[in-house]
Amino acid sequence: MAFETEPLFRDDPYKRAFSARVLAVNARGGIILDKTAFYAAGGGQPGDTGQLRRADGNDIAIGATVYGEGKAEIVHVPLSGENLPEPGESLAGAIDWPRRNRHMRMHTALHLLCSLVPFPVTGGSIGEAESRLDFDIEDAGAVDKEALTERLLALVAEDHAVTTRWITDAELAASPGLVRTMSVKPPMDSGRVRLVAIGENGAVDLQPCGGTHVRSTAEIGALTVARIEKKGRRNRRIRIRLDDAE
Ligand SMILES: [Zn+2]
Repeated sequence: MAFETEPLFRDDPYKRAFSARVLAVNARGGIILDKTAFYAAGGGQPGDTGQLRRADGNDIAIGATVYGEGKAEIVHVPLSGENLPEPGESLAGAIDWPRRNRHMRMHTALHLLCSLVPFPVTGGSIGEAESRLDFDIEDAGAVDKEALTERLLALVAEDHAVTTRWITDAELAASPGLVRTMSVKPPMDSGRVRLVAIGENGAVDLQPCGGTHVRSTAEIGALTVARIEKKGRRNRRIRIRLDDAE
């Protein structure tokens, strides 16, 4: 049986704490809530970690968050040995905010990277210390590490607003240029798609995305293009780091 979890992170990515009711605990001990601020892994962004506090004050440590059966159900995966709650129980949730905030800064930085490198994206991954995008680039001389870092820092300094809006599947199908990533399907939600725009009317970047982002590019802070690697004849992997990474 699949349940439905309201994804609070979608409308408010800055929500760190919330209260929710347990809908079920699945066969593998995964906790399914009626709503959650825990981002479920997807689109290259890792799922959140954090705690779910029971009424008696005991914390259940959550080590991962994933989608369950279908994209409507979000499963909070406790670390092994944790106590499990009962269906119907109320819990107070808190995500590991420093980790998530880094994911938001990284995720937004990858949108900027995507806007600066005019080649198809074939993959990507977000981490706390380092993130990457893979591009289908034939000409190895097409990208330069230092020049790219400078242009990224300029977009950060310009403090562009990051906003979201929904369009219909039909509107998306009418503008195939919106989809930059070849391997990642845009998030579809009952006939509508979420667009993430950076800059006025998406002047800097505009694409479908279901991840969490910071509200303005200045929040990304200082970053560096760490490496550009050759992965196969056409594939170039571009790695970025946040400069305050440990
Ligand atoms: Zn995104």
